[in-house]
Amino acid sequence: MNVTVIKQNMLKNIPKVDRVLEWPQVQLLLGQYPRPEILHVVRLILDRLRDSVKNGARTDLPDNREIIGMIGSELRSRTAPSLRKVINGSGVVVHTNLGRSALADAAEAAIQTVSAGYSNLEFDLATGERGSRYSHVEGLLCELTGSEAALVVNNNAAAVILALSSLATGREVIVSRGELVEIGGSFRIPDVMCQSGARLVEVGCTNRTHIRDYQNAITDTTSLFLKVHTSNFAIVGFTAETRLEEMSALGRERGIPVMLDAGSGCLVDLAPYGIKGEPTIRRYLEAGADVVTFSGDKLLGGPQAGIIVGKKELIEPMKKHPLLRALRMDKLSLASLEATLRLYRDERKAMAEIPTLQMLTLSPKELSSRADRLMRYLRRQLPENVTLARHSGESSAGGGSFPLLQLPTTLVEVRIAGATPSRIETTLRHTVTPVVGRVHRDRFLIDVRTIPEKDFPPLLASLLESATILTEK
Ligand SMILES: *Cc1c(COP(=O)(O)O)cnc(C)c1O
Repeated sequence: MNVTVIKQNMLKNIPKVDRVLEWPQVQLLLGQYPRPEILHVVRLILDRLRDSVKNGARTDLPDNREIIGMIGSELRSRTAPSLRKVINGSGVVVHTNLGRSALADAAEAAIQTVSAGYSNLEFDLATGERGSRYSHVEGLLCELTGSEAALVVNNNAAAVILALSSLATGREVIVSRGELVEIGGSFRIPDVMCQSGARLVEVGCTNRTHIRDYQNAITDTTSLFLKVHTSNFAIVGFTAETRLEEMSALGRERGIPVMLDAGSGCLVDLAPYGIKGEPTIRRYLEAGADVVTFSGDKLLGGPQAGIIVGKKELIEPMKKHPLLRALRMDKLSLASLEATLRLYRDERKAMAEIPTLQMLTLSPKELSSRADRLMRYLRRQLPENVTLARHSGESSAGGGSFPLLQLPTTLVEVRIAGATPSRIETTLRHTVTPVVGRVHRDRFLIDVRTIPEKDFPPLLASLLESATILTEK
């Protein structure tokens, strides 16, 4: 028989939609899913089958049981939410692709309260008149950073665009060549500058910029010195960076404000916890920055937000800028930002209750005992073909902060009999609660730093699910 005839026979044997709908197992699905949804999926699966016969991808037809399996799993995946919880076994604390910071309980509760009903978002309870959404966090931000004024927007990229648009449109902004950063997600300082209508004046060299470089570049239309945190990279070796203090002194002399895009932005000094090199926002302001912008969901450990602090005379015009309406923060983020900031009034509370800070500062001993607890918990319930081993390794801060920092940690290796590490990695990414780990030197590893105790049960469920899938094959 030639290929065309075989294909035509196969196509003829693909069951009709009406028949499939009558199968008892499909009838059972009617209890769980609406009929139009089932009809749609049955058509979809049969169409796919037809296509794969036509293009030669299939040389035999699945039996009815398999077709029912396909229908069931398609229905499940169509009804499961697309955006869902994952277990972060990567050890990257502020993982941009995994939603950056996990929120503190207080922040989660604030979202719950504000989302479930009405709120005084833009209503002044004291006067009964219209209020400002920004008022809920401005005071706290000033208190925590020593700033004169503060404003929050959707994210730090928006904060930079708003600040530049307000301070520098149509005028020149002087930036060091060593700070023309690309953050990822196509946020590039030169492009952002262009968007805001400011003219970029580059000075210095990639590795060295001196205060005289800024001085020599000043013209009548210079509106701003911009300093950008290099965040996700480090220039090492023969380097010189102009200090904020020097820039601010020159700026004061010539009437030019200094703006700092601090990137991650930290409200507590992490040096006593062994994480050195990131000055606090308060320190930046003390060093003479007139405007500082930073993210809410990086080291701060709150929701997505862009925070602007600094001189009142520079921030007030931003509050009236037409762009602000387009960049404004929503009430849920505002509620959780306020709750997160409140924790910072007591540093001990912040360190203990903000997951990002807590995970970053876990000691090697705490990590080792967490690994013990995790392995004991899992071993009690995992089948024999799943085995665990511990290794030492390194985690990183992520979120474009501390690019060179390697935090000692404990890794747990997961082995499933008969499956390669990369097969384990793929399978775990497809479980009900996906697990993100890494394959390194032919081992599948998860880092306990980013797996809090409350994730142990869903991790166990995902391992059980994977073990079942991998042994069926
Ligand atoms: C992360 C970062 C940004 C962007 O902040 P988002 O909150 O992600 O918008 C801008 N500048 C620097 C230096 C950064 O590190």
